[in-house]
Amino acid sequence: MGHTLILAEKPSQAKAYADALQHTKKQDGYIEVNDGRFFKEKAYITWGYGHLVELLSPEQYNETWKIWKLDQLPMFPGQFQLQVSKDKKKQFNIVKRLLNHSTEIIVATDCDREGENIARSIISLAGASHKPTKRLWINSLEVDEIQKGFRHLNNGKNYLSLYQEAQTRQYSDWLVGMNASRLYTLLLQKQGMKGVFSVGRVQTATLYLLYKRQKEIEDFVSQDYFTFQGKVQVPNGSFEAKHKQRFATKEEAQKVLQEKGVLPGVNDGIIQEVKKERKRTKSPKLHSLSSLQSTANKQWEYSPSEVLKIAQSLYEKKVLSYPRTDSHFITDSEFAYIKNNLSNYQECIGVDVEVVYPDAQKRYVDNTKVAEHYALVPTKQTPNFSALNEKEKNIYLEVIATTLAMFAPDYGYEETKVEVGVKGINFEATGKVEKQIGWKSLFKNQQQARKKETVLPAMEKDQACQVNVEIAEGKTKPPKYYTEGQLINVMKHAGKEIDDEALQHTLKESEGIGTEATRASIIETLKHQLYIGIRKNLVTVLDKGKILCQAVEGTLLASPEMTAKWETYLKKIGENEGSQELFLDKIKQMIESLMQEAPKKIGSMEQSLQQVNEKSFIGKCPRCNHEDGKIQDKGKFYGCSRYREGCTFTLPKKFLGKSISQINIKKLLGGEKTNLIKGFTSKKGKMFDASLRYDQTEQKITFEFPKG
Ligand SMILES: [Zn+2]
Repeated sequence: MGHTLILAEKPSQAKAYADALQHTKKQDGYIEVNDGRFFKEKAYITWGYGHLVELLSPEQYNETWKIWKLDQLPMFPGQFQLQVSKDKKKQFNIVKRLLNHSTEIIVATDCDREGENIARSIISLAGASHKPTKRLWINSLEVDEIQKGFRHLNNGKNYLSLYQEAQTRQYSDWLVGMNASRLYTLLLQKQGMKGVFSVGRVQTATLYLLYKRQKEIEDFVSQDYFTFQGKVQVPNGSFEAKHKQRFATKEEAQKVLQEKGVLPGVNDGIIQEVKKERKRTKSPKLHSLSSLQSTANKQWEYSPSEVLKIAQSLYEKKVLSYPRTDSHFITDSEFAYIKNNLSNYQECIGVDVEVVYPDAQKRYVDNTKVAEHYALVPTKQTPNFSALNEKEKNIYLEVIATTLAMFAPDYGYEETKVEVGVKGINFEATGKVEKQIGWKSLFKNQQQARKKETVLPAMEKDQACQVNVEIAEGKTKPPKYYTEGQLINVMKHAGKEIDDEALQHTLKESEGIGTEATRASIIETLKHQLYIGIRKNLVTVLDKGKILCQAVEGTLLASPEMTAKWETYLKKIGENEGSQELFLDKIKQMIESLMQEAPKKIGSMEQSLQQVNEKSFIGKCPRCNHEDGKIQDKGKFYGCSRYREGCTFTLPKKFLGKSISQINIKKLLGGEKTNLIKGFTSKKGKMFDASLRYDQTEQKITFEFPKG
């Protein structure tokens, strides 16, 4: 007798499925299910650990590709092949046996491209691709959602194009990663650079975006400007008003005042215009993963990957809908359960919402705008708060607040615009007074970056006033470094920086680079490679990143626009409208042209490479004493440049709770003792002061205590 096989992505997911089914029995590597409500025959749930299988590495296709050599490039395998990952053989064999004895397979991995790829790669390597498949497609791990999903399984064939898309991504990432990383590493090493320069299709374009911004900041020349401002006195009070025009020099500004007969100091003026307007703001759109990531970064400085992890954990706790979503909309059916559960959510958040929009509004609820997943919303189930950590609570409450906000009153304020004239010179002022806090009351726990209220005194058009005019000086300001949260948005729009929330949503998702599910991990990769660093929540490009950016400048790797176009094409493959072969050909063409361009480009970089080399040289390695053994800044510690040759020498940047300055590190490496460093904390918690010295024979840091 055959059986139905349910293939989950990981053990926790398999367990959630089993929790929704009857008569289950845990076995080694799988769960047995006898639930006649859903399956006519016996069923088994089994799982991967994410990927159980992987693409072969270069030397497995061709032995001569084992050693990194320029004349072995490009490496284009005739046909990509899969193998079982080393440490996952046992589980793979269990899955394989169950797959091969099954009559039907239910693909029940995560409901996205990568999930499809994980399942289909396993099925393919197990030799079970010919078996009929169904797809479980759900948006939350709640029991009733899972049951509903098993009752309404989709035809597995409908998802094959998603698999094609994910596979194309995987192949092209292999081609770019393997070839370009070797190409750039070898060329840069020829110029005396150390280490590996990893290059990736999306990763390098993202790095280049950051580099471009950093150059704008570094090259920015601030300019002085001059303008007029005036303190306006009316019978009911006073306020500041500003002139719009800017002048390059003070003399120019003075001349204009003179021509109009305005004296610095008090002048007679007139209120030319008073315009009052009631304005309202709708509540923010429901969260997609990226908007949640940027909000949480702004609010609590969580990194995007941290936010994804927290959202995933809440999803697994069954209180949050599927996290890897790019949609800001829900359908009527989510709206219905959310409305039913309003009082539970309100209790959670501890705020009573005045429901003024009891019906679904198109801004949030639109069946036509939900394709794969709907926006991030709470499930029907509310969590036991004591079982959530602080970060989970913050994220959960943020999602609840945005969800409840669609029922709440608009935020309302009164805006007053005033125009004051002094002998033909105009001054303007804007006042803003909050009239109705509305949905903003739901975010009361957050420090809203609310603009301060500016209350203008009562006045009327044509009223006379006195204006104390002066010339004010200002400086033009450089653009700002991106935060990690902004970076998510910048990637989403391929470098078009859009601060206006409303405008962000009008751009199509597909114009960006990376996917909703991958952006956070791309940022993590860049950090891990020491291409970028985060300081005070701002992203800066480190020396290693700058070198790579200079090297790829002008190529397609450095073009976010091109990367975005590729992304659009990949999505087309997912919609059955594109061809994998065509895409991979394009990628191969790009690699071939890189091989032409890169040597010329890197050859011309000699000077800047030398500078970086000198800057990164801190001292000679005291352990291997080799002439190439140079101590370099490795981010969290200092290490020998010959670590690939086996020298494991490192020095910590922090020692017993104290940061060691680079000056002191240089002294240590030169065999000297450091300056007296105050405030070490011993393992027993005692504070003390000492100098450090590196002991050559013992090969360790020793203390020297001040005498007396
Ligand atoms: Zn060394």
